[in-house]
Amino acid sequence: MTRSPAVTFRVQTPGRRSINSLYLDEIAAHLATRDQRPYRAKQIADWLYEKRVTSFEEMTDLPQDLRNRLADDFSFGNLENVRVLGSEDTTRKFLFRLGDGNLIESVLIPASPSLYGSTSDRRTICVSTQVGCAYGCKFCASGLDGFSRNLDASEIVQQLIAVEKASGERIDNVVFMGMGEPLANFENVVRAIRIINAPWGLEIGARHITVSTSGLAPQIRKLADEPLQSRLAISLHGATDEVRNRIMPVNRKYDLTALLAACDYYASRKKQRIYFEYILIAGVNDAEEQAHLLAAHARRLGAKVNLIPYNIVEGLDWSRPSRARQELFLSILREHGTVATLRREKGHDIAAACGQLRLQTKRNLEVVPASAN
Ligand code: SAH
Ligand code: SF4
Repeated sequence: MTRSPAVTFRVQTPGRRSINSLYLDEIAAHLATRDQRPYRAKQIADWLYEKRVTSFEEMTDLPQDLRNRLADDFSFGNLENVRVLGSEDTTRKFLFRLGDGNLIESVLIPASPSLYGSTSDRRTICVSTQVGCAYGCKFCASGLDGFSRNLDASEIVQQLIAVEKASGERIDNVVFMGMGEPLANFENVVRAIRIINAPWGLEIGARHITVSTSGLAPQIRKLADEPLQSRLAISLHGATDEVRNRIMPVNRKYDLTALLAACDYYASRKKQRIYFEYILIAGVNDAEEQAHLLAAHARRLGAKVNLIPYNIVEGLDWSRPSRARQELFLSILREHGTVATLRREKGHDIAAACGQLRLQTKRNLEVVPASAN
């Protein structure tokens, strides 16, 4: 066998689409314009999602001239792994640098029975969908630096591939709960879900994919109309407009009535149970009255409630209630017959709430002179 020649790096043409953002039939359609047979599309998908190569050059059963053409036509963006926090049996956070230098993070969560779509032996990835977030919830690290841009579908899909590669673990559950508001990046998120779910793609069952939203009511309805069986989680965090208005500016645009009506539409359209996420923040949303009202909303919609003790964010003044208060809130929900869990999460110590690792790294980098980078 002859050694393959040294890899020559091609100059990247700006604006080329990443191969990981294409559906199988789009790859086939592209190949048709290059006078190639359609079966080549499946070969390419196998290289991308089964064998996980990192360049077209490695697709050795494709003719050399096709490999060259593909490298001219598409980019092969790989995420650069900048930092990892955490150890094997706890939550691990991965900080990635995108092609344009922006930083995003993904979190790998070990088996946890209380997680969305998860049973006890599933490994979950929490993916980012945007660089920053425009929604500015008062308690959240992701919105603190404002919004930079949407991720494209390939940058979402590549988070799974990169985390599996770095960890050696097989991911079988996906939550869209990283940085960004998924439903504000609707087309790319739906595209990524299809690729993650496809038999020719990453082949993760739709019921093991959960999208979380802060409450974009019209987009919830739009998602309900998509032929997808992925799951929906709502970041409720308050059972009245008064509480939600105080901590989530999005509620001034789509109030609780509009949000719950959209949830109702989603649940009945999909015949699915949705999730309410409820971060417990001391003195803000942990009153007993809120628990009774939350139970009523959950009962009306048949929703399941996941209580999450607030994770402290450096520079923000919020804190979690005492353990006893968290348990009291949970017991009120259960008295009403609401299906509810309280996350006794690991990973609190490594800044588990999404957006925080990036923020810390950015802050650290900011004190380093640019020339030292
Ligand atoms: N933008 C979407 C998805 C990303 S946020 C949304 O808001 O749903 C994912 C979840 O993390 C949300 O429920 C969000 O409210 C929660 N979160 C944000 N900051 C947190 C913190 N400091 N502690 C605990 N949960 C937090
Ligand atoms: Fe954005 Fe979600 Fe954070 Fe709100 S909670 S700022 S919507 S990422």
